[in-house]
Amino acid sequence: MAAARWNQAITDFKLAIKYKYNLEQQFKIHHKIGQCFIKKKSYKKAVSSFTTALELVNKQALNLNENTRKEFNKILVDCINKFSAKADDVKKTVEDFKPLNPSNIDPRVTDQVEVLETVGKGRNAFAKNNIPVGSILAVVDAIGPHLNPDNAAQREFLEPSSSGDWPVPVNNDVEKFSLLFQMAMNEKEVSEETHARHSLVVVLLLRALRKTTYYKDGGLETPAEKFSQQELLLGKLMYKLRLIQDMNSHPIWGVSRSQKDKIGKDHIGAGLYTGIGSYFNSDCNPNTFRVNIGKKMLLIASKNIKRGQEVMDNYCIHFSELPTVTRRPWIQEHFLFYCECEACEEDWPTYSNLPQDRPNQKIADKLVALEMENIECIEKGNIDKAVESHKKEITLIQGGLSEPHQLPVTIRNSFQFCWWKKVVQYLQQLEQADPVNV
Ligand SMILES: [Zn+2]
Repeated sequence: MAAARWNQAITDFKLAIKYKYNLEQQFKIHHKIGQCFIKKKSYKKAVSSFTTALELVNKQALNLNENTRKEFNKILVDCINKFSAKADDVKKTVEDFKPLNPSNIDPRVTDQVEVLETVGKGRNAFAKNNIPVGSILAVVDAIGPHLNPDNAAQREFLEPSSSGDWPVPVNNDVEKFSLLFQMAMNEKEVSEETHARHSLVVVLLLRALRKTTYYKDGGLETPAEKFSQQELLLGKLMYKLRLIQDMNSHPIWGVSRSQKDKIGKDHIGAGLYTGIGSYFNSDCNPNTFRVNIGKKMLLIASKNIKRGQEVMDNYCIHFSELPTVTRRPWIQEHFLFYCECEACEEDWPTYSNLPQDRPNQKIADKLVALEMENIECIEKGNIDKAVESHKKEITLIQGGLSEPHQLPVTIRNSFQFCWWKKVVQYLQQLEQADPVNV
């Protein structure tokens, strides 16, 4: 966490320089930046900052008294001499998560899925080839993420990282918004109460807009008593967006980085993920799971997916956590469809009532060995290796057990936990890395 504080300080100092704070004595700020880099053992960058400071001190134009100038000159020369010889701490470069072979059509999603559109049924994503467990299928930024307002402390999860990216378009804004407006909103199935609620909010928003400078700056006609045609168009768009948001929001989870062994996961808000919501349908026993890095969402294969199989997300909750009798109506109420997935149709039991019979001896022995390896890897912080042994376990189970069964659920949860660990590790590496230029 200390590295994060020095990074924050460096960013603040750089902003001070950018906005010409205390222009006469900017060398002091460069000196301070150098000191922060020393704390981070980034000596090359420190020396570079000290050198800039020295150049500024020696600029004749600088309105300094001669003693001060000499004093700082000496301090800076000493710093440069002292730290020039020191070797930087070797930092690993932090690799961003990318989908497996990004698609040409939508680079946020892997090209290993084929998205087909069926009239009346919407889009489905099928595996074009066999997709190995653990493959990253999509990396998508949220459009218009909104946070739970009651937990401001969690805001940090949404403002991380040197990549610091607010939503990026598919290729351009037109494509992004056209995808957004194509998302399902099930207008006909929505209850009258919901329609009334959205109408009311939209009217309020339009009225509120009249109190802003939007009209002047947006070049729109000054509103009369009644809503103008332009306002009505805006209202329709807002109304549609609200319906889309109801149907397509994914939760955003923040992960706590403070605890070493535990993963604290908090529901910190929701966002629209066109790259996931537009292509992947829901199943209560999905072959994927999602993790968040800030606003970014990763969709990961939780099983080996065979060529031709549909790649499924989960909009609700895993079958093992909530009985069909509660889960199905919940999906119907919130997403306005009657779930016909295998787990729903066959009324698979929840976790504690799932079959627990042991797989055959050969598989059981291998699983025990892999499980020992997992525990050891996680204890040692070797998350990548833990991910690999989970993949082997899942492959073994897929070949040797039929669902529903307790074991695939246990390993799925444990695999997902590993991925959250990976996220924590990634965020920590980002903190160690030097901040990007402001
Ligand atoms: Zn279902």
